[in-house]
Amino acid sequence: MILIIQNGYSCDYEMKLFAELFFANDEDVTIIQNLTYKNKIINAYTQIIFDGNIYNEDYNFEFDTEGKSKKLIKKIFTATCTKSLSHAAMKIRKINFSWGVMCGIRPAKNARELYEEGFSKEEVRGIFEKVYEVSPEKTELALTVAENEKKLLSKIDKNSVSLYIGIPFCPTRCVYCSFVSTDIRVSGKYMEEFVDKLLLEIDKTAEIIRDAALYVDNIYIGGGTPTTLSPLYFEMILKRLHEKFDLKRVKEFTVEAGRPDTVNEEKLIVLKKYGVNRISINPQSMNGITLKKIGRSHSVDMVYEAYKTARNIGFNIINMDLIAGLPDETPEMFENSLERVIELRPENITVHSLCLKRAANFKMTDNELADAEYMNRMLSYTQKRMESEFYLPYYMYRQKNSSGNLENVGYAKRGTMSSYNVNIMEEKQTIIALGGGGSSKIVKGGRIERVFNFKDPVEYIRRFDEIVKKKDEILEVIKFE
Ligand code: SF4
Repeated sequence: MILIIQNGYSCDYEMKLFAELFFANDEDVTIIQNLTYKNKIINAYTQIIFDGNIYNEDYNFEFDTEGKSKKLIKKIFTATCTKSLSHAAMKIRKINFSWGVMCGIRPAKNARELYEEGFSKEEVRGIFEKVYEVSPEKTELALTVAENEKKLLSKIDKNSVSLYIGIPFCPTRCVYCSFVSTDIRVSGKYMEEFVDKLLLEIDKTAEIIRDAALYVDNIYIGGGTPTTLSPLYFEMILKRLHEKFDLKRVKEFTVEAGRPDTVNEEKLIVLKKYGVNRISINPQSMNGITLKKIGRSHSVDMVYEAYKTARNIGFNIINMDLIAGLPDETPEMFENSLERVIELRPENITVHSLCLKRAANFKMTDNELADAEYMNRMLSYTQKRMESEFYLPYYMYRQKNSSGNLENVGYAKRGTMSSYNVNIMEEKQTIIALGGGGSSKIVKGGRIERVFNFKDPVEYIRRFDEIVKKKDEILEVIKFE
């Protein structure tokens, strides 16, 4: 068990997060930390009792709180605590994190908030590197993402909303999956009823958006794998969206065609016909052996085929996802995947770090996890190659349990950045979720209210009345903004 006792200042969440990066929950560890602030010096003294030994770190940081916002003071005090803890823990286990002692899933947001506090770019760089001990490479990444995000966020009209439509079906389940999805071999029999209810939910959503005098400027159909739907079901859904919303105002319309084995010409023609202008074809790896290992029921050739079909039909913004850190993949194998994808010249490339969540049906031992060093090499290679190929990093998030505590980054060719991806990350625009597994995020006066849809298609169908009620609740919130 990891026991943490803090005196003088408390940041339980962050301390626990860092403690768990160094120690397993079944290890006996006691961490005691005392924090004082005197004469502009923050002192965090940490003592770790582990395996019969005591490890100390007495860390001082000079910081004048005078005239600083509460938010900034909290950031600096918390970083001092996690830094003192990490320095002490490194005396036991030599683990270095390229994001240093920065907590939180959105480093670019952290950079943006510092800009908003009035710090210059050089000062923000200094805070990242000196206070958080973030590597120069990751600092550069965060600052570039912050700048690119800012451009997209400045274009959000306050009367606009995004729609997210969740299709919680997949052809098979990938072993690392932590998303909401069901295997159609089991749940496919519910698809028809699911689509029927979804059409009703589209009607209801159109009603509340009209009543709130808002309009939709962005639609994202995700999952699951939306392209498990037949062309007929797609046509029904897309036609209904056209009937109920003014889609002339929609500037970005994305469909995740994630699994290449679910993509065919007929489906893509339907998507194109109804105005979908961005699709995602996700190989995750371009190494056949890995695809088998992770339970994807498609080959590398099928990726090429799906991509070619989509281009022939006229899709001119295609995203491709890759995952770094898949089982038994060496940096060279990952580099091969990235190079094969670059050769295709998609407009967007998104690189994820393998994230292990409890929902994942995938138990890997520490040895099987690509170690932090490997991950660093893969992501560092990505950053350099993307830069040399003129792809710009424009959104980024870290997942708590990702290997090496690293990041997922969306890269795009100039003029093809997805505003939906930035919205969902930065929570500056209301997103109304329909279908299975989505959560509506209502942005209201700087606060976010969340309303969750049911994850499981059966529950979605059986408890549809509740979904309708939830939509009324959303209206109450957005109407009185
Ligand atoms: S395609 Fe995506 S959502 Fe479906 S099982 Fe694989 S990882 Fe999960």
